[in-house]
Amino acid sequence: MTVIEDARALLAAGPLCDACLGRPFADRSFGLTNDERGRALRTTIALAEDTDYESTPPGECWICEGHCGEYEAWADRVADELEGIHFETYQVGTRVPPLVEENDRLLRAEAGMDEEAGERFKSEFNREVGKRVGRKTGTAVDFERPDVLALLNLEREGDVEIQINPAFVYGRYRKLERDIPQTEWPCRECGGSGKELGPTGEIDCEYCGGSGYLYDESVEGYVAPLVRDAMDGEEGVFHGAGREDVDARMLERGRPFVAEVKEPHRRTPSVETLEAEINDAAAGAIEVEGLRLATHEMVERVKEHDASKTYRMDVEFGERVDPDAFEAALDELRGATIDQFTPERVDHRRASVTRTRDVYEIDGELTDDTHATIELHGAGGLYVKELVSGDNGRTEPSLAGLLDVTAEVTALDVVDVRGENEPFEREVFFRD
Ligand SMILES: [Zn+2]
Ligand SMILES: [Zn+2]
Repeated sequence: MTVIEDARALLAAGPLCDACLGRPFADRSFGLTNDERGRALRTTIALAEDTDYESTPPGECWICEGHCGEYEAWADRVADELEGIHFETYQVGTRVPPLVEENDRLLRAEAGMDEEAGERFKSEFNREVGKRVGRKTGTAVDFERPDVLALLNLEREGDVEIQINPAFVYGRYRKLERDIPQTEWPCRECGGSGKELGPTGEIDCEYCGGSGYLYDESVEGYVAPLVRDAMDGEEGVFHGAGREDVDARMLERGRPFVAEVKEPHRRTPSVETLEAEINDAAAGAIEVEGLRLATHEMVERVKEHDASKTYRMDVEFGERVDPDAFEAALDELRGATIDQFTPERVDHRRASVTRTRDVYEIDGELTDDTHATIELHGAGGLYVKELVSGDNGRTEPSLAGLLDVTAEVTALDVVDVRGENEPFEREVFFRD
C-alpha cells in the first residue's frame, strides 16, 4: 500500500485530527511535525479526489479526544509550575490515558497497518509540550539528567507534577580541631530525638543533653545547611571521600567531599560567597576550599575513587629506641606490603579478614628517646595506628614489631587524600 492508501484507510476508520493522522507516518520525512504530515496527507487526498478540504479539530478526533490541541495549554501550566525554580535543563513525561493508547493501536489495525507504525502518542506529546516549554523558559531539554522533570497526567486536567533533581557542590575540607566527626552523629541513647522517657513523661536525653547528637559540631553540620540555604533546597547531604577518625585532624590539602542539595530552587550560587560563609561560620574549627558546582556523578566519584592517604603521627614508645634501629625500621617499612587482620577497634559487624596494603613512603624522626613524629603515604585502607602498634601481632610487619618495643600513636593527622591513578577533580564532573 502507498502512503496515500494507508492515509485513506486511517480516515475511513473515523474522524482524525492532523496529528493523529500524521503519527503513523512519524518515521517518514524528518523535519515535519505529525501535525504537518497529517495536514499534507489530508490536502493531497482532497486534491486527488477533488473534494472540499475539511479539517477535523482535535476535539472531534476519536483517538486523542482533544489532547493534541492542548500542547500549548500544558506547556503554559508547566512554565507556571516552574516559576521561581532555577533550572537549565528539563524533561517532560506524560501519563497517557490507556484508552488513547488502545485507540491508537486499534486505528492502525483497522487500517491494516503495523500496530507499532510511526510513533507512540506518549512520545509525541512529550516532545510537543517539551519544545514549547523550552521556548517559554529559555532552557534546553535533557533526556539523561535534567535539572527538572515535569510529569503531565492527562487523566486529570491540568495535573502537573514537578520533580527537581538534586544539585551538587564539590570541595575539599580541613578539620583543624580534634573530636569533630565528619558527619552528624545521632545520639545512641535517644536515637537522635533528644528525648527520653522519664518517670513523669518525656525529658531531655541525659546522654546528649537533648541535642540528639553525640557531638555538638561536625563537618557536615557546618557545610550541608549552608549549601542547602545557598541553593534554597529542602535538605543538604554530605558525602566525604572516606573519613578520618573523630580524634584525627584533616590538614593541609584536605579531603574531597560533595554536598548534595535535594529539591534546590537555585542551582548556581556563588561558590566564592558560599566558601566564605562556611569558613566564617566554622570560625576555625573546619575550613573548606576549592568549592565548585558539580554533576551528580561527583558523588560516586568521591565515594568510589581509589585514594591514597598521607598521615602525620606522634608516636610514643614503651622504652628507649635507638636512632639507628629507628631508621632501619623505617627503611624496612618504606615500600613494604603490610598484612593486616581486621583490627579490634574496627566495626565488629565487618567481616574479619587479612588484607594487604602498601606503604608508599615513610619518614620520621625521634624527638627524644621514646617519642617520634612520622609522616606516611600509604594505600587507601591501610590501618596506620596498627601499622605502628602491631595490634598484638595482627598487623605484620609493624613499627613496634621491628623495634621490639610497644608503640602507640598518640596524635594523628591526615594531611592529604589523593586519587591513586588520577586526581579526584576531572573537568567532566563539574558544571561551571
Ligand atoms: Zn487526535
Ligand atoms: Zn540523646
